[in-house]
Amino acid sequence: MNTDVSVTQVAKEAPEAAKPLFPFLDLQAQYQGIRAEVLAAIERVMDSQHFILGPEVEQLETEIKAFTGSKFAVSCASGSDALLLALMALGVGQGDEVITTPFTFGATAGAIARLGARPVFADIDPETFNLDPGAVEKAMTSKTKAVIPVHLFGLVADMDAIMAVAEARGVAVVEDAAQSLGAFYKGRQAGTLGAAGCFSFFPSKNLGGAGDGGLITTQCKDRVPLLKALRVHGALKKYEYQMLGINSRLDAIQAAILRVKLPHLGCWTEARREHARHYCRLLRDNDLLRHVKLPVEPKGCVHVYNQFSIRVKNRDSLRKHLHACGVPTEIYYPSPLHLQPAYTFLGYGEGDIPHAEAACKEVLSLPICPELTKDHLETVVAAIATFYATRT
Ligand SMILES: *Cc1c(COP(=O)(O)O)cnc(C)c1O
Repeated sequence: MNTDVSVTQVAKEAPEAAKPLFPFLDLQAQYQGIRAEVLAAIERVMDSQHFILGPEVEQLETEIKAFTGSKFAVSCASGSDALLLALMALGVGQGDEVITTPFTFGATAGAIARLGARPVFADIDPETFNLDPGAVEKAMTSKTKAVIPVHLFGLVADMDAIMAVAEARGVAVVEDAAQSLGAFYKGRQAGTLGAAGCFSFFPSKNLGGAGDGGLITTQCKDRVPLLKALRVHGALKKYEYQMLGINSRLDAIQAAILRVKLPHLGCWTEARREHARHYCRLLRDNDLLRHVKLPVEPKGCVHVYNQFSIRVKNRDSLRKHLHACGVPTEIYYPSPLHLQPAYTFLGYGEGDIPHAEAACKEVLSLPICPELTKDHLETVVAAIATFYATRT
């Protein structure tokens, strides 16, 4: 085992461990503002002793329906399962192809491959980081069963064009809206545009629980009993298995906590959007737009900034500098899925999906959680400015 070797190497190569001046994501600060309500909600569930699905979960589903304007909502155990269940409900399996982006979290393509279908990766639009409809069209074959656009970082993909390409071939569109609850596209919300919308309540999402959770939105009534059966082992009635399903249910404690948080989501999103505007102003005023490419918000879209991801050429040295200044950053995502070991069986190689590969080398996510103040953002931009001041 070479574990020791790699540990020593990491220790030597790591820059002086500067303590971050503030957290990248301040869940603690968020919690302190709603602590009493959260604890009361947990107590309510404990007193009921009803832990899985049930009234608390049904109320959350109703409230998410109202919030998103979706006709139907079915909760489940995670965003990953939401994708899996949505694809199962569409009958995706062996021999099918599903087109998606390689510039995403592993769950998107994982759901496809788990069902024995083949993930077909199409390139992204380098401006928006989202699936390029032209690339989707080129990737279509007679085996294509579905397309999964990912509304990455909180921006809805070019859905009109993607829906047009898919509908022309009778192919279903499943939206991976895990990062984009509350985002709008031409007046409609993320997750309500395709055959199904998949959401995640992982703690780092804009609406995060105290653990895992997920939800599927759909506009099709017939799909609801199917989704509800699939999440309980395929049972339409108790102990009557009509199909093969999985165990993927939302806990009442998660639902109760999410119900406390949902009424705050509008304010939290507005704070993220205000931070984004402030970052743009500060980067422009410091004459940094020569070096830094800002995230875009196309006309008709409302971005919810789950991440504020800039693009820079010397990303790794900038990140090291920011780290040394005590400024926390993250890289979403360091490597595209088509080049990861789990997907070598698909036969992709370096250079096959150029825009996604370039994005992985250049993206850097700056802290943008609602709890940050303008001072924090100014600290971040000042640190970026000192990096470029020493190089020009
Ligand atoms: C978080 C995320 C998921 C998976 O959600 P989990 O709740 O963590 O299973 C899927 N897709 C994207 C794009 C995500 O960001």
